[in-house]
Amino acid sequence: MSIPGRPKPVVTVLGEPFWAACNERRLVVQRCLGCQQLRHYPQERCPLCYAAEYDWAPLSGRGEVYSYTVSHRPFHPAWQEHAPYVVATIELEEGVRMVSDLIGADPDSIEIGQGVEITFEALDDFGLIPRFRVVKD
Ligand code: ZN
Repeated sequence: MSIPGRPKPVVTVLGEPFWAACNERRLVVQRCLGCQQLRHYPQERCPLCYAAEYDWAPLSGRGEVYSYTVSHRPFHPAWQEHAPYVVATIELEEGVRMVSDLIGADPDSIEIGQGVEITFEALDDFGLIPRFRVVKD
């Protein structure tokens, strides 16, 4: 599901490697070189050990619905025709959580623990952005 008119993410210096990986259809997050903790969103320092050194760790892109809400009133006009739609906190296999809408999810049947997987979608004048969809059993 492409969403015409969707606002573009704001790319910061700190988050640029995340978006560059997305353009290669890879999902990466920061990994602290002090304690190996994965973290997302990108941050200057590790919230656990306060180390400033990190690298970028690849993730599988598979996870499950940790929590969700059904949005009946879109936060932006670009989503008007898609309402109601599901916005979920996704817990990835590696333990990192991300927030995403769920492509094609039925608001009446979505469940906590449901399997999801990443997909990358082209956003006009931006590049590829990560989105998630429900994995059918
Ligand atoms: Zn750390």
